[in-house]
Amino acid sequence: MRGLYIHVPFCVKKCPYCDFYSLPFTESRAEEYKNAVVRNLLRYNNEQFDTVYFGGGTPSLLYRHIAEILSNVNYTCNAEITAECNPESAGKEVLEELKSAGINRLSIGVQSLDNAELNALGRRHSADEAKNAILLANKAGFENISADLMLGVLNQTERSLEQTIDELCGLPIIHVSAYLLKIEENTVFGKRYNEIADKLPNEDKQAELYLRAVEALEKRGFIQYEISNFAKSGYESRHNLKYWRAEEYVGIGPSAHSYYKGKRYAVPKRLDKFLESEFQTEEITEEFPDREEERVMLGLRLCEGIELREEISARLRFIPREYYRISGGRLSLTPKGFLVSNEIIAMLIE
Ligand code: SF4
Repeated sequence: MRGLYIHVPFCVKKCPYCDFYSLPFTESRAEEYKNAVVRNLLRYNNEQFDTVYFGGGTPSLLYRHIAEILSNVNYTCNAEITAECNPESAGKEVLEELKSAGINRLSIGVQSLDNAELNALGRRHSADEAKNAILLANKAGFENISADLMLGVLNQTERSLEQTIDELCGLPIIHVSAYLLKIEENTVFGKRYNEIADKLPNEDKQAELYLRAVEALEKRGFIQYEISNFAKSGYESRHNLKYWRAEEYVGIGPSAHSYYKGKRYAVPKRLDKFLESEFQTEEITEEFPDREEERVMLGLRLCEGIELREEISARLRFIPREYYRISGGRLSLTPKGFLVSNEIIAMLIE
């Protein structure tokens, strides 16, 4: 069964490190956007989805419209339905509305529980607001709560990271996504790179922070199942697993991607076009995806790894032993291997 991704391209304010497609939120645009999403969903009336994911941007800003959008989606009764949500927009009313609309998994953009780090990231919430959002979500009836963490933040130390993880794991969450801060060219941080470069952890420090996060999370019962994702047993993100297992999904909204009936597509990053067209424009990005290359590239992001075939096996002699594991006929990377996964994958598929 396919998954459904809906990209919500609105934020209250752009964070200086973010290169996701989003524009300032207004109620009138949100209404128009909801209508455009519903029009696009009509094309998939015959498709039943077992995962739905509202990503962004800040989907929680759209809380008044989620129920109507979901009423136009044909999903299974046990579907995983996720909405990303920012702590400052996660008030009681918003959370209750999301819950009653059918959202059963929340992904909250905590990033850090250190106020100095949150400030450096230009986030609009404080550590207390983030903690409160998780507690409120739990009170509103959400059991499946994920928190986003950022590694390699300006001035972050192993101690401050450990402190954040410690506090976070004491809260009612069941999943953690921990991403290394990457400075992208077309962001405020990218443009001010020279000013901030000496406050950023260097590559060795980043590696230490990552390995420390893996260890600290596993110690607290969050099992790593992907390079950047950790969950209590049975709470891995079913929607995101589809991406890494090269399964198909439909993407709706500007900048969304799809993998549909064997082809990969992208929707242009143009909210205006998305709003005025009956159906979104979909540009083919890959007409005949290389299935073997995808199997290796995506599968090695996962701790379950890939089936070890002869050709790959022959190339392993070039790779240091501490970077990978072989077990039950499968190849997977160790946390140290994940840190150099791009190089390893390039060596395996060249
Ligand atoms: S990080 Fe999240 S809240 Fe900040 S601009 Fe990007 S999508 Fe919006």
